[in-house]
Amino acid sequence: MKAGTLDADTGLEYKVFASYGDPRLPAEYRGNDAAAGDSQIDAELAQRFSSLPAAMQQAVGPYLIPAYYEGSWHDLRTSGKKVADGHDAELGASDNSVPCGIELRMLATWTRVTTANQKVSVWYQTKVTGDAAIAQNIATELDRAWPLLVAAMKGREPLGDGGPGRCRGTGPEIDLTISDIPGSHVKPYLFDVLGGSPSRPLPVFIEISRAGDLARDPVASAVHEVMHAFQYAFTAKGALGHTDADPLWMMEATSQWAQHLDRPAGNEGKEQVAASINGSLLKNPKLSLDEPNQRHGYSAYLLPLFMQLKYGDTEFVGRAFAAREQRSTFAEAIEDALSSRGGFAEVWPEFIQWNLNRAPVNEYTTRDSLTATADYATDGDVPARASFMHEESVSLPRLSAMYQHFSFKHDEIRTVTMYNGFSQTLSEQPVGGVRLIGLTLADATVYTGDSGKAPPEGASVYVITKVAGKDWDKPLDITDRSYITFCRDALAERLEEMIVVYGNSNYKPGAPNIQQKGLTPRLVTNNIGCWGWEGTANWSQRPGGSNSEDLFGTSIRWEREYWPTLGLLTSRPHTTFKLVSGTGAWTSVSDGKSCAGTLDLKNGFLLSPFLEIVNHSIGGGQHHRLAYGWGVANAGSQCRGGPVPWLALGDPSVNMLFKVSPDGSITGTLPNAPDTWIWSFKPIRQ
Ligand SMILES: [Zn+2]
Repeated sequence: MKAGTLDADTGLEYKVFASYGDPRLPAEYRGNDAAAGDSQIDAELAQRFSSLPAAMQQAVGPYLIPAYYEGSWHDLRTSGKKVADGHDAELGASDNSVPCGIELRMLATWTRVTTANQKVSVWYQTKVTGDAAIAQNIATELDRAWPLLVAAMKGREPLGDGGPGRCRGTGPEIDLTISDIPGSHVKPYLFDVLGGSPSRPLPVFIEISRAGDLARDPVASAVHEVMHAFQYAFTAKGALGHTDADPLWMMEATSQWAQHLDRPAGNEGKEQVAASINGSLLKNPKLSLDEPNQRHGYSAYLLPLFMQLKYGDTEFVGRAFAAREQRSTFAEAIEDALSSRGGFAEVWPEFIQWNLNRAPVNEYTTRDSLTATADYATDGDVPARASFMHEESVSLPRLSAMYQHFSFKHDEIRTVTMYNGFSQTLSEQPVGGVRLIGLTLADATVYTGDSGKAPPEGASVYVITKVAGKDWDKPLDITDRSYITFCRDALAERLEEMIVVYGNSNYKPGAPNIQQKGLTPRLVTNNIGCWGWEGTANWSQRPGGSNSEDLFGTSIRWEREYWPTLGLLTSRPHTTFKLVSGTGAWTSVSDGKSCAGTLDLKNGFLLSPFLEIVNHSIGGGQHHRLAYGWGVANAGSQCRGGPVPWLALGDPSVNMLFKVSPDGSITGTLPNAPDTWIWSFKPIRQ
């Protein structure tokens, strides 16, 4: 509806016209409201009816009469009478501002099938071929579904309409018609609404759209609308009848779920649509569960479905509706209904994982054939760069979620770290004073969180990973962690995919969004080797004269000894490696005496050979990507004897420090007369 161009009454009239496909709707208002689902406009119409201008009452009043009565919209539309004109004459009532103020005659062109349990009559036009069969089918199905709905609502049944007076059919049962309207309607009776308290249990009648819902699935549609009748037996605290956004979203959610309850394996097309349409919980996970939007409301059926599949809890809906009588919002009522399971705080993080509906959390698919999946805020391949960062702001309203998905397809992506800036306050901190062996990291900085502080109320962060050659790992809760890191050179950490699930389980009305207090959450990757290195190292010494020392180290292999884990980045941002193999071929010329031989480089002298790499520091500074190592082998009793300093990868005493190159290798020369060291190492995978 165009804002500001219509007064409120006309706006209501046009909404009613649109929902019934009434030709009186001006052309410029047609099209947009094409029935996306069933309409609840009639409750609002009934509530506002007595204050509408008389002409408008006459125009829309026939919609408040069941279609099988004289003077109904159906009668006026199909009998050739103009709807706007027929009202007075057909009513013949003393108070003709109120439709069906007297007993009208039923139209002979309609008849009905009543369910065996006498709870519902299904009305249809005798002239329409096939409708008798559809009506019988609906009645049969409703007999089957009824006890399920009663149990789901914890025993509370719809109110009877008290018929047959005042156009309420032939008995106290619910009257349901097969109607030629764009979308289905559930309607309270006008007299029950007039002058009553704002929210109270009401009987309703139902019109089901032939072209819309019936064409898609008559039985599911009937169960959906009849579930609305069950909901009308409950009040909603603080709400104006059943017209306010808050009861409405949950009414649609649970009617949608009722279709499913009735036929668990049915997987109605309507479920697929509800889950995946624009505005739905899966398409727009950053919207709150109780978003006042009918499409979102339909899709919220996933919550009762989750309760049913996960916990076998089919009374959750009844508990929630009962609680809503005492609570001003369904969010609070649902919190009550979830109390035995720890409330939203416990249920929400798992529910939003289910909503991914992808491996390894694809219960909706495996148990219900639902193919719709949650939309990712980010979904992409991490590029093979020397260093890469994806940072993304996350701001989540109460009862919402956000998903990221990263793929890792390039071997050059080696060190992968997800920094949690959502539930932790992330900042860049110097590691100052951290000592490697023989070296102090003065200017390195790392990202770190505030471990120990309580996360914001309701915040959750889970990481789900898939490692090459293995099934998906179970979701890992990193809410209290500032980062999680993986070394893709190691078999057990060779990430192929990572999903990050952010959630806000805070249900309280007015609760603020949760968003980062420090740096944004970020995925940081680089090509720095983290599992092992392989290569060569040469040492030569020219002390003058004819004396010389030379060593050619080959088949040198380092393997990881220490890798940072939780909470240690600020004290140990580096990875250490131990020498696992290496052979040195040396020649020594001393005072005219020459000898040569080979040496196992692992025969350490005083200190075992070491290699240390700073994998996790932030760009900039001389210690970013730093590689530092030392190796001295003991030549023992061989002809040369004594220690052989075959590797000096960096020498802080002469301010010579080396880094992992942009291509991922460690190559360099350290001249320090009379010695010269040359090395070349490349990262290796396990
Ligand atoms: Zn509905």
